[in-house]
Amino acid sequence: MFNKMIAGILPYFPKKLVWIFSKRYIAGETIEDAIRVSKELNAQGIKVTIDILGEFIKDLSEAERNKVEYLELIDTIQKENIDGNYSLKPTSFGLLIDKEVSYNHIREIVAKAASYGNFIRVDMEDSPCTDMEIELFRRLKAEFPDNVGLVFQAYLKRTLSDLQNLMDIHSDEHPNNYRLCKGIYVEPAEIAYKKYEEINQHFLEDLEFLLKNGNYVGIATHDKPIIEGAYKLIEKYNVPKDKYEFQMLYGVTPELRKSIIEKGHTMRVYVPFGKEWFGYSTRRLKENPKMASHIIKALFYR
Ligand code: FAD
Repeated sequence: MFNKMIAGILPYFPKKLVWIFSKRYIAGETIEDAIRVSKELNAQGIKVTIDILGEFIKDLSEAERNKVEYLELIDTIQKENIDGNYSLKPTSFGLLIDKEVSYNHIREIVAKAASYGNFIRVDMEDSPCTDMEIELFRRLKAEFPDNVGLVFQAYLKRTLSDLQNLMDIHSDEHPNNYRLCKGIYVEPAEIAYKKYEEINQHFLEDLEFLLKNGNYVGIATHDKPIIEGAYKLIEKYNVPKDKYEFQMLYGVTPELRKSIIEKGHTMRVYVPFGKEWFGYSTRRLKENPKMASHIIKALFYR
């Protein structure tokens, strides 16, 4: 109850307070911070996917700025020889303002990544974006079959059917490339599973569908039962190492992460950075409200 209340008022917390918690989950505000953290992770045998924070813009001039930032990021990361790719959120490029403008910006970013043989992961946002983000993926994959992938959320009731429908653009030569996660937004019960057990069960069902049909999957979770379930599926379908990877968020469950790497699986960590860390952080805090009460305690017990 107390945790829920804290989660509700989080967006109104002073920024300085939220930063105490956030610094664990965010590389920093600058590209240099992202490079430093990425190199540290690469040195531990971990790949990265780098995300510039920012979403739900109000003005298309912000979309143009965000595109330029991504294009610069891609050139810099290439020069720095970092083992990583990129994640982006379509609403940062105006998806909800002008779909075509956002498509053109994201297309330019994918083209830049493709010119280096690299890859852009389109994050999945909340349910008003789902259809548009699937359509975006279809269009981009038609032009860049190996350089773009999408995220699916196991909590959405529609996910398995979306994955089945997308098999029409999957081939052995150019497999569909997904990240599968539980989903982080608050969605209505009509369209989303709410219970932990239900979400986990559907996560593993979706994962089984993807693995047995030759899709590439980034298994994005910190949840041990799902990781154990994934190990079983990988064994059951004898999935080769180049058809999946595990993914985790920067700063979350590093011990579990280590145990996955020690078993010889590929691991990629999501490294967010940028000035817009506040929205990202309050979402993480809402997801894990226990952390919020820890912050309050840290404030009073210092
Ligand atoms: P949970 O059941 O939430 O957590 C399992 C355990 O992990 C918890 O008990 C706790 O020990 C630990 N844990 C989880 N989160 C935290 C935390 N913040 N701090 C500390 N411990 C924690 N969601 C989207 O909707 N769209 C996306 O595009 C997207 N991309 C993602 C990319 C990556 C690489 C990852 C790992 C997640 C992404 N997510 C995305 C978020 C995801 O949907 C979940 O909300 C998040 O990963 C928590 O779910 P979980 O599977 O770890 O399981």
